[in-house]
Amino acid sequence: MDYQKIIEDIYNKVQEFADMGKQADYIPALAKVNPNQIGVCLKTLDGKRYTCGKSDVRFSIQSISKVFSLAMALSSVKKELWTRMGKEPSGTAFNSLVQLELENGIPRNPFINAGAIVVADVLLSNLPNPEEDFISFVRCISKSQTVNYNFSVARSERSQGYLNAAIANLLKYHNNIENDIEHVLQFYFLMCSIEMNCEELSDAFLCFADHTKEFNYQNVHLTASQVKRINAIMQTCGFYDESGEFSYLVGLPGKSGVGGGIASICPKNYAVTVFSPRLNEKGNSVVGMKFLELLTTETKESIF
Ligand code: GLU
Repeated sequence: MDYQKIIEDIYNKVQEFADMGKQADYIPALAKVNPNQIGVCLKTLDGKRYTCGKSDVRFSIQSISKVFSLAMALSSVKKELWTRMGKEPSGTAFNSLVQLELENGIPRNPFINAGAIVVADVLLSNLPNPEEDFISFVRCISKSQTVNYNFSVARSERSQGYLNAAIANLLKYHNNIENDIEHVLQFYFLMCSIEMNCEELSDAFLCFADHTKEFNYQNVHLTASQVKRINAIMQTCGFYDESGEFSYLVGLPGKSGVGGGIASICPKNYAVTVFSPRLNEKGNSVVGMKFLELLTTETKESIF
């Protein structure tokens, strides 16, 4: 498969969508990002690398970090995690409070904010040095020692983070948070603030692309079956209340973030990341969704 030619052709085709949508501005620091950027990187399990556009420009990974925090939490507490959250698609916005209230403080899944805030709490309770341990794990899987948190983005989000604070309070009311709420929120925002480029994210997702092998990176150990299940949750819950649409259009597991990134996996084959900050009304990158739809159409490689 000539992936380089394929991604270059698609890169040209998606230009017609390049001014659609709007970058996230509810996090003040993200409102300053140049919205007119597109980066792509595809890396295969057999060691090949294909890039296009701004594949080396770092951006705020935001909710894509929820895949890494889930991996760490599952490695720490295993099945016990599922007593504190579900694994069903939510069908509601990523920051919705309504469902959480109706369901007595048990988030639908680890990829909506409520679930990821509980995951942050689990990590705070179980890791010796949560901030250092988390970034060190992400550096290891992304093969890049310079990947880091952006503390000013985290502070910027905290300054306006009223809805996430409401979610954390509701979780605490239902005894689904063990630690101090402010500490949990700060750690959650910090994980979201990590900056990576498409190449680093593709390396990190490649670690999840072979669900027949155990996952052993630093202190994170997952069985092959747990890797399969993380992929399954990406497939069903990775795109907010547009997860069905992504599955329908693209047919691969993946995770998006409001920084404009989408990282996706073609199991046993490759990981691909697309970055373009303009989002649709559900919070997913317009160009990212279109790019990946064209990629699986063109290559006829998907899980279906
Ligand atoms: N930090 C963002 C928030 O909590 C993450 C949202 C996202 O990327 O989905 O709103």
